[in-house]
Amino acid sequence: MEVINRYITIKHHVDGAPQDSDFELKSSPLSLSLEPGSDEVIVKNLYVSIDPYQLNRMKSYSSSQESSAYAVAITPGEDIDAYGVGKVVASGNPKFDKGDIVSGLLKWGEFTVVKPGGMLNKLDPMGFPLSYHAGILAFSGLTAYAGLFEICKPKKGEKVFVSAALGSVGNLVGQFAKVFGCYVVGCAGSKEKVALLKEKLGFDDAFNYREETDLKSTLRRYFPDGIDIYFDNVGGDMQEAAVSNMNINGRIAVCGVISEYTDREKRAAPSMIDVVYKRIKIQGFLAGDYLNLFGDFLSTTCDHLRTGKIQPLEDISEGVESIPSALINLFRGQNIGKKIIKIAEQ
Ligand code: NAP
Repeated sequence: MEVINRYITIKHHVDGAPQDSDFELKSSPLSLSLEPGSDEVIVKNLYVSIDPYQLNRMKSYSSSQESSAYAVAITPGEDIDAYGVGKVVASGNPKFDKGDIVSGLLKWGEFTVVKPGGMLNKLDPMGFPLSYHAGILAFSGLTAYAGLFEICKPKKGEKVFVSAALGSVGNLVGQFAKVFGCYVVGCAGSKEKVALLKEKLGFDDAFNYREETDLKSTLRRYFPDGIDIYFDNVGGDMQEAAVSNMNINGRIAVCGVISEYTDREKRAAPSMIDVVYKRIKIQGFLAGDYLNLFGDFLSTTCDHLRTGKIQPLEDISEGVESIPSALINLFRGQNIGKKIIKIAEQ
């Protein structure tokens, strides 16, 4: 049987904020029967993840493209890989059977042909919706868990600040830190997001950074006794303000610097005198380096979901054609929680 596989590509490199005109929906015929002897797996994509780092892959140059296998440059016109969940429709690989539900590195499209050695695993949904396995129970969740517990090593009662706090990673950092026993303040880009952080997710406090004119004094207001842990999703002037409000022996996990992804001028220049004299540890990290924690992360997060200690926060759009606007809107702050595209019904 042959289908028409629709997928998203970029028309050219994208060096500023992404726009609709940067993307193209392409289609090509795909046979769903494998050649005899083939060891490929054909997956019907069900859910794919939308993540800010994809923009760094689309640039004509970003140092990230050379530093990690997860961030290699995307060639204009070619299909784009992304984490997701799917269903096997044909398999020449003895590890997979037709009908298996799988997760791994798929494509921003309707089908993925996974070559031998590609990242693909059978998935046990454990009673949770499949979409959770593209976000909260996958890399977004692992990023929050590893960054908070391995990089920041919180102690009960410590004061934690999270930026992009209603995003995919940020909301979980705040929720994990609350369950652990920390005092947590988040910032986000609208009144509605601030209300959700406090009322739905149980953050101790939250503020809209877009309404603030002097971020150093804003943070002083929210943390009169200083910040012990800053989970940095945005970089830029928020990172500078956080450093100047850190306590002695404070820890900063640099998870991402989204404010820089669309504007190189936003690069943070925190006070190094503060870093030295307050003995602040600032550490970048990649979730992919912490796969050894995946088992612990998964069982802890599943328990918290089952007991209601953690609320899932998903923002799901439908159809392959909605992928470009979903990515564009991450940089406009229009997502609430984990942005996922539902490509097809199971
Ligand atoms: P996300 O937070 O779900 O979405 C991005 C959010 O960032 C937006 O909703 C927006 O919320 C905020 N934002 C966008 N442009 C901004 C700007 N110029 N200044 C301040 N805030 C801005 O995305 P995510 O997947 O959770 O990723 C968050 C960060 O973690 C990103 O920097 C990403 O690259 C990084 N990350 C790192 C790893 C890793 O392994 N290190 C893994 C996953 C993600 P507002 O309404 O608050 O503006």
